[in-house]
Amino acid sequence: MTGDVPAPSAADRPDGVAGVAGPSLDPGQSGTGDMDAASFRRHGHAVVDWIADYLEGVGDLPVLARVAPDEVRHALPATPPAGPEPFAATLEDLDRVLLPGITHWNHPAFHAYFAITGSGPGILAEAVSAALNVNGMLWRTSPAATELEELTVDWLRQLLGLADGWRGVLTDTASVSTLLALAAARERAELDVRQRGLAGRPDIPPLRVYTSADAHSSVEKAAITLGLGRDGVRLVPVDDQRRMDVDALREAMAEDIRLGSRPIAIVATVGTTSTTSIDPVAAIADVRDEVSGDLGWSIWLHVDGAYGGTAAICEELRFVLDGVDRADSLVTNPHKWLFTPIDCSALFVRDVATLTRAFSLVPEYLTTDDEGVTDYMDWGVQLGRRFRALKLWAVIRYFGHEGLAARIRHHVAQAQQVVAWVEAHPHLELAAPAPLSTVCFRSVVPGEDESAATDRNRSWLAAINATGEAYLSHTVLDDRYVLRLATGNLRTTDDRLETTLGVLDRELSALLP
Ligand SMILES: *Cc1c(COP(=O)(O)O)cnc(C)c1O
Repeated sequence: MTGDVPAPSAADRPDGVAGVAGPSLDPGQSGTGDMDAASFRRHGHAVVDWIADYLEGVGDLPVLARVAPDEVRHALPATPPAGPEPFAATLEDLDRVLLPGITHWNHPAFHAYFAITGSGPGILAEAVSAALNVNGMLWRTSPAATELEELTVDWLRQLLGLADGWRGVLTDTASVSTLLALAAARERAELDVRQRGLAGRPDIPPLRVYTSADAHSSVEKAAITLGLGRDGVRLVPVDDQRRMDVDALREAMAEDIRLGSRPIAIVATVGTTSTTSIDPVAAIADVRDEVSGDLGWSIWLHVDGAYGGTAAICEELRFVLDGVDRADSLVTNPHKWLFTPIDCSALFVRDVATLTRAFSLVPEYLTTDDEGVTDYMDWGVQLGRRFRALKLWAVIRYFGHEGLAARIRHHVAQAQQVVAWVEAHPHLELAAPAPLSTVCFRSVVPGEDESAATDRNRSWLAAINATGEAYLSHTVLDDRYVLRLATGNLRTTDDRLETTLGVLDRELSALLP
């Protein structure tokens, strides 16, 4: 798939290695400069051809990588080359060594975790971003990067139907977005943690963050990082639809306050990772208001919509963000369900001043006289920032609001196709409601005990994934092992999905008594 490789010519080699056949070096490669323009054009065309061929044929590759641990590493030289190598040699190793070690997230039968797509416009814009090589730490270090980020996140705000008054920033991942939101929550508590830290402070009670038992592990990781510890996170039980139990939340907060702890934040999830259940954000906001009113300080409400939040782009799915306009922050990941190549997460906040108060620290060499501008370095941990907005902007422009909505709607319809298949199947049962694009199900045999069911479902998943024809993942719900199938890839046609369900059926038949 490397396209045109230049003719091998040992005579071209400036390192004087005679008799070694292989592609030639570029004219500019031996001096002290960069790749020359003509060579860049030639290799660039080869790379674009490689990508186009890859995306066209990815559905024929085994979706889950089949390499053994260390196989990739050992297939490559352990030491770096002393002299220059032809660029084509890198592309050859990409095909020969790396591709077999790739699990193909852009594959039409990738249904594990959350199915995602790095789309064409996003891929091309990502290349341009590398060419510009912008570091958008300050407005002046590339005004266009900062202003396009402000504009693009505001476009995303409008696509999601959020009210005016939200501002946003792009980070690498939802985990980091949630970390920043909880740092802002801690800052709002006015404990002067920024200056004095948390250790050795008898004046500070235990700080508490509330989230559901089905919330993403990134909430606890943020608590670990921010010095609250895992004990600082109360995992509130879920109801029979796997949504945060609001009465249990109220009780947990009341109990903690009685025992002298201080609630600083609640994290609601819209689209949990296991089942895409949707916490009742408005009812949670009511509890937040009630408790905040009693205590006399404002508890931060963060909403994790890393995957599910994007569904709000469709008018009829806007309910996923019901109540979110009462929250303080929201994260949603364009790299999950908005066809933007990894990495791209959007953090929306209302109270930007509290977020920047948590993080702004400007050494002399970064001070400027620019007035009325956004310096995104003040919004988080990192100083240097890449030009992420470009790919998201390109994706939104290329598909348009209607095109994005049509694609998300299609993925939800495909999930319903899977639900219908499960419901019609004599040996399967649905394991949770499937409001969005992810379906949890398992095989059942009447009269068997739970461990036999777990063993068979485990074996079924392993058998499916070993075929290379599909890749699914699993979760455990109320001690029951279940398979998860997520749709969300633009290359998954309805026919391909039918074929994949046929693979699942075939592999299950082999395991049934
Ligand atoms: C995927 C996911 C995350 C983590 O996303 P990263 O961008 O990989 O950090 C957080 N929350 C939810 C609900 C998710 O589904």
